[in-house]
Formats: sequence, structure tokens, C-alpha cells
Amino acid sequence: MEHETEFNQKHRETDIISWFEGVAEDAAAVQRLTLRQILELNYGVEYLKKWLEDIKIQEILDENALESIYASLVPLSSHADLEPFTQRIADGDTTPLITQQPITNLSLSSGTTEGRQKLVPFNHHSSQTTLQIFKLAAAYRSRIYPTREGGKILEFIYSSKQCKTKGGVIAGTATTHYYASDEFKIKQQQTKSFTCSPEEVISSGDYRQSTYCHLLLGLYFSHEVEFVTSTFAYSIVQAFRSFEEMWKELCHDIREGSLSSIINITRVRKAVLGVTQPNPELASRIENVCEELERADWFSIVPRLWPNAKYIYSIMTGSMQPYLTKLRHYAGELPLVSADYGSTESWIGVNVDPKSPPEKVTFAVIPTFSYFEFIPLYRQKSNYNYQNGNVNSANDDFIEGDPVPLSQVKIGQQYEIVLTTFTGLYRYRLGDVVEVASFYKKTPKLNFIFRRKLILTVNIDKNTEKDLQLVVERASQILSKARRTELIDFTSHANVTKQPGHYVIYWEIKGETNERVLDECCREMDASFVDHGYVVSRRTKSIGPLELCIVERGTFKKILEYYIGNGAALSQFKTPRCTSNQVLLKILNACTIKRFHSTAYG
Ligand code: AMP
Repeated sequence: MEHETEFNQKHRETDIISWFEGVAEDAAAVQRLTLRQILELNYGVEYLKKWLEDIKIQEILDENALESIYASLVPLSSHADLEPFTQRIADGDTTPLITQQPITNLSLSSGTTEGRQKLVPFNHHSSQTTLQIFKLAAAYRSRIYPTREGGKILEFIYSSKQCKTKGGVIAGTATTHYYASDEFKIKQQQTKSFTCSPEEVISSGDYRQSTYCHLLLGLYFSHEVEFVTSTFAYSIVQAFRSFEEMWKELCHDIREGSLSSIINITRVRKAVLGVTQPNPELASRIENVCEELERADWFSIVPRLWPNAKYIYSIMTGSMQPYLTKLRHYAGELPLVSADYGSTESWIGVNVDPKSPPEKVTFAVIPTFSYFEFIPLYRQKSNYNYQNGNVNSANDDFIEGDPVPLSQVKIGQQYEIVLTTFTGLYRYRLGDVVEVASFYKKTPKLNFIFRRKLILTVNIDKNTEKDLQLVVERASQILSKARRTELIDFTSHANVTKQPGHYVIYWEIKGETNERVLDECCREMDASFVDHGYVVSRRTKSIGPLELCIVERGTFKKILEYYIGNGAALSQFKTPRCTSNQVLLKILNACTIKRFHSTAYG
């Protein structure tokens, strides 16, 4: 019987992998078919009518012709073009605006990368593709790291509040819609791995209470946990930082079968107490391990407390990279598996090489999920005109080529992704920059490079999130030379209220350090921005010395709470790496305890 179940599992995994291999082998044709399906399904909707007028999609039988007619008649779009439509949907307009099927759910994209939340349509296709990519990714993972059927997953996942818009449409984050959907339950049944926490914990709406319960239940089932996961790596790091402070209380609850008074939501208390029982033996074992772990700065906590966990699985790329050091510290020898690539707008690619380290991970595009186009991006030398100082600071340093379909992308080339989705987005610029690393069959494997938007710019300087990340990484190495001193989180602001403008970088640090070290960190960051516009401006003093502000402990938690209070979910939270939001700046400045001004450039 045992053998048969194992056989069935293998069979299921082989099924989904062979399905993907098939569509990847035929990626170009599958993409054209996907475009046809989307256009036929939404034939006659207001948005498309405007561009395609009376062209009858059904009558264009040649797939290549359809692809080029579409690209020549429908323009590239951005979220600003979509906004009037999502607003009408939110207000209750049920006429076919962007899809023939009425949109009943709108997703709030985290927006923390852009500082503002965006509304994006969500439908059944969104949940289905989520289920499909999760199953596919699980199948690839289990080839390398097999897990036990019926085992548990310690999942740090959180729903945000779902609310109804004026027109009765349900709004919430994409992950919230997914956790509330049948697909989430189906995934557990089909992958035969079950989340430790009941639904009440995931959807409590209070991330502290959910984190406590996730940890408590994770400990209860510690021997059954097969892997530890979250959507973005931030949530795992956040959970273990909380664990460092709450472990004694957690052990007390395990010993007594009680539940901390922090948990004050009745339905959560009921659900958790329905699962737990007093377990003094387990509590003592955990306590002993924690006493040792505390002395070792919690190194390797995950395998020590979850001895059967095979790996940690989460998005660790892009804006999550700064948390990788801490995650590795908590993981010890346990493999880190970088999770898949997607956005609220559409899933994009799956990690087919779970063994590759997060720094090198690539994502194989799934050609049935959306119709993908790629805008080639070419670096240009700084476009600063030294004679008259003329520059458009809203643009970055890329020259764009004409968008190409998936079948025409080239290895080594960087592109911005453009999506046409089953949810009513047409040639929508996602704003992410990717590089084609190689091919899986005939579908590209992408490296996530960064979000295209410039974040730090005062005049002719152009720095993206990635540029800031590199600079902070260099300086934080100076900081971490001191034992047990680490950078917890960071953000920045281009301060142009006084002339000359300058960059302000906010750091929250843990541990002891001295002013000399921080002075050096500040200087190092200023000197490490390699952008030509920045270097020239610093030399000519048209940008002032970089300012490093050290904020008190807990400041970034306040920022998280500010976002959560505005409807964001911890599952999708990304610390904004640059902000001009007045509320955030107020928090940051009020919490600043030390300021340093760079002496680089004299
Ligand atoms: P959201 O709009 O909140 O769903 O966030 C989507 C954005 O998160 C994407 O456009 C990417 O910029 C980023 N993202 C998602 N998945 C990954 C990944 N695997 N690696 C890096 N960045 C990612």
C-alpha cells in the first residue's frame, strides 16, 4: 500500500512535469494560442474595441498574423492606462470593460515597491494558475528533496482584510484571495502536505497574533514539518526575529496547553486551542535547545527545532536579497530554495532547478499563463548634456528596442516584461527588468534583475533599487565586522527640500557599534554609488554629502504596521527601499537617533 501511494505521488509529479515540458518545448506556438484564447475570450470588450475596432479576431486564422496585428494595433500600456477601468469596476460598472466575464475581485498589489497600492483584476484564472505553479514547483522540488506524504508545512502566510468596494467588488491582496479560494485547499490535498495553522490563524488580520500561532503550531508539529516557507523571505526572517523574543512564552504555552493573552481574537483562540494539548516533554526539549541556540545567536534554529525539515522555500531574489544573510544564519546547513517569479498581475516563471543558490536562480517562463512580450533594454552612456545640463530625470539609462515575442528573446539580453493576461491586461508594462539566462526546452529562463523604476534621483543621477542595495551591502560589511552587529533593514529618501539636494539613507541596526564605524559606513555608501551622474554631481557639489540616519529599534516594524493598517498583507510586504511618503518620513525622522554626513568627495 505504502509503495502504491509513493507510486501515485511520483506519477502525479511526472504528469505535471511532462505537461510543462510539453508546453515549454512548443513555447512559441503555445504563446500564440494563448494570445488567441485571451483575445477570443474577451472579444468586443471596451478596451480592445478602442484599438482593434471591428477587426474580427476569429477570422484571422494565421497565428503569426494575429500576433503581429495585435502588437501593431494595441499600444503598450501602464498601470495609469488601466486605472480608469479598474476604478469603474470598483464602482460597480459591470459592462464588459476589459474582460467579458465580470470581474468580481480586485487585488491590491503590494505597491510597497512604488509607494502606492495598485488595484489589479483577479479572477478564477488567477487562482488556477497559482495552484498550477505551486504544484509544478512542488514537483520539481520533490525530485531533489523528497518530502513525506501527509507531512506538514510551517507556512508563514497572512491574509489581509478583504473589503467590498463601493460597487460590491471584493478587494484584497492576491495572496488573500488565494488563501480564501478552493485552490488553496486543493493544493494541500494534491501535494499531500498540510499547513500547520488552520484558516483562522492565516486570516486573523493581525500579523503578530498570526505569527505567534504559526510558531506555536509549528513547534507542536515539529517532528512532522517537512519544510518551512513563506511568500517572501521577509516574513520568515520577521517570524524568527519574533521567536527570539517570544520563545519562553511559546514554551510555557506548550507545557500548559494554554494560549498567550496576546491572542485576543476569539475565533483564533478557539481554533488553536482546539489543536493543542499540554505537552511538558516537548516544552522541555524545546527549552533546552533554545537555551543553547540563544548563546549561539540563534544560528541554525530551523534544523535544530524542525529536525525533519528538508529545506526553506521562499522568494529570496530581488528586494528580498538583503534578508538572505539572516535567512542563511537561521537555516544553518539546510538548503534554501528560491521560490517562483510572479506578480499580482500574473505568474511568470517557475524555478526548475531547486538546487541552484538564490543568487543564481532562474525562472522558466510558463507559456500558458499569459502572453508575454519583452522590451529589449540597452545601456547607454549617461545622457547628461554637460553644456546645458539637460536631462530627463524620470528616465533611466536604458534605450528601448521594439518589444519581441517570447520566441525571439536572446540569451544575455535584458528586457522589461510586458503582459497580456486572462484578467484583462493588454500589453501591460510590468516594470520588472529580467535577463535571459538560458532556455528550458524552448522557453526562456529568466534572471530577475530589478524593478525598473528609478528610486534615487536628485538631478542627473539615476539609481535603482539594485544600485542602492549594492551600496548598502558594501557598507554593511564594515558594520558586520563587529560580532553580533547587523543591519536589520534600510530605506532611503532623495531630499531636495534644500539646495543642493542629497541622499538620506536610514538604517536600523541591532547590536553595539561606535560612531567611527558608522561614519565609515556613511562614507563608504557615498563613495560606492557608481552612477556617473551621481559621481559628477558629487564632485561638482550639485548633490550634497550623503546622510546616514540611524533609527531606533522597532522603527521598521512601525513602517510595516503603517502599511498593514492601509490594507497591505505581511505575505506580500516589501520594505519600500526609497520613500517620499510624508507619513513614513515623519516616522523615520522622529525615530532617528544619530546622523552622519559623508566626507567622501572632500
Ligand atoms: P506584487 O505586485 O506585490 O505581487 O509584487 C510583485 C513584484 O514582486 C514583481 O513585479 C517583482 O518585482 C517582485 N517579485 C515577485 N517574485 C519575485 C521573485 N521570485 N524574485 C524577485 N522579485 C520578485
